[in-house]
Amino acid sequence: MISVEEALARILAEIEPLPATQVPLSETFGLVLAQDIVAQEDIPPFANSAMDGFALLSRDSQPRNGQPARLRISGGVAAGYVADHAVEEGTAMRIMTGAPVPPGADTVIQVELTRSEGTNSEWVEILEAVPPGNNIRPAGEDMQRGQTVLLRGTEIGPWEIGILATLGWAIVPVIRRPHVALLGTGDEVIDVHEALRPGKIRNSNSYLLEAAVQRAGAVPHRLGVALDTVESLREKFCEAVQDDLTITSGGVSVGDFDLVKNIMHEQGKVNFWRINMRPGKPVAFGHIGGVPLLGLPGNPVSAAVTFELFGRPVIRKMLGHTRLVRPQVDVIVEDGVSDRAMRRHYVRARVEWRDGHFVAHTTGNQGSHIMTSLLNANALVIVPEGGVEVRPGDTAKAMMLDWPEVEFSN
Ligand code: AMP
Ligand code: MG
Repeated sequence: MISVEEALARILAEIEPLPATQVPLSETFGLVLAQDIVAQEDIPPFANSAMDGFALLSRDSQPRNGQPARLRISGGVAAGYVADHAVEEGTAMRIMTGAPVPPGADTVIQVELTRSEGTNSEWVEILEAVPPGNNIRPAGEDMQRGQTVLLRGTEIGPWEIGILATLGWAIVPVIRRPHVALLGTGDEVIDVHEALRPGKIRNSNSYLLEAAVQRAGAVPHRLGVALDTVESLREKFCEAVQDDLTITSGGVSVGDFDLVKNIMHEQGKVNFWRINMRPGKPVAFGHIGGVPLLGLPGNPVSAAVTFELFGRPVIRKMLGHTRLVRPQVDVIVEDGVSDRAMRRHYVRARVEWRDGHFVAHTTGNQGSHIMTSLLNANALVIVPEGGVEVRPGDTAKAMMLDWPEVEFSN
């Protein structure tokens, strides 16, 4: 049996980022840039006013004989328009925020520092002297033509999208989203709309994983459930090889009907099939028909936890991310956890910040079939392998499931 870290290292060593594609800007949220973005224009594209006020010559703003300068208003310029004449000595032009500074003017005074007779006034008094360049946002102050503004490999969030829009990138080069085939296994597993019959349970894994795959940024493709026969599995795997990654649940442990491994041996390669952890010892990794296959355990909690530990990093690497794993933090465990098994235990827990430290309390029965203890869990408290006991008040590491990823170091 290999450790969690070794398993993840072996998995990630076989995964490459997917090729680049072109995606409409409004669909790029969460994706990774496939090339550097170089500004083709100055931003702002033209010198413009930062305030509603008056454009004038700075030297005209000086008081005369102790009186405020009084200037003739020659017209106005609104955002979206260009002045039809220049500002001359002794005159001023009304200007709105974002409007281009008219020729002749070298400064802008905000309306609050002026006095006039309102919108129809023909004159304005300048109540304070203003230096050249006042309230003027020069062309290229934010981004300069030729400047590399965003680097290849950057994750696109709302702020990056704003910059791409500013620069006119209607279509953006990004790493494409992986398509992930999801396959349930087991004669006992029926679909969600079916009534329970003796011996049967509903397929929770495929739906749970479908959402988890979407949350990771990939496109899920549910293939339904294969029966515990080689024929049924072969048929499903023929479909799965259309996608970038196959994730199965169930059928990978040592029971008589654990056939996923056999098909991997038959049609591809098994890299490993057991990890020293709980929940989720039977995790298989390899490939079928050249497509990476992650075989998760059948128990829903095991499937959920092992997806977070292994499936999500795989998807993130395919998406071109470099931060692949959830961060760990020291927490004070309020209720103790002991482990009779010698494997490393990932305990579902709620971590909260209280009185200057992170405090964890477990979310209930830790059986790998107890789905309700996934509810409210935002972390997995890590009990090290070797039968370590964590007593109430002890400090342990917790993996934070709702914090942004960090780089994986083995
Ligand atoms: P297996 O790994 O196939 O032995 O399955 C382990 C446990 O998970 C068994 O109790 C299965 O009934 C259950 N199980 C397998 N697949 C699913 C599924 N898709 N949804 C819910 N439970 C499942
Ligand atoms: Mg099974």
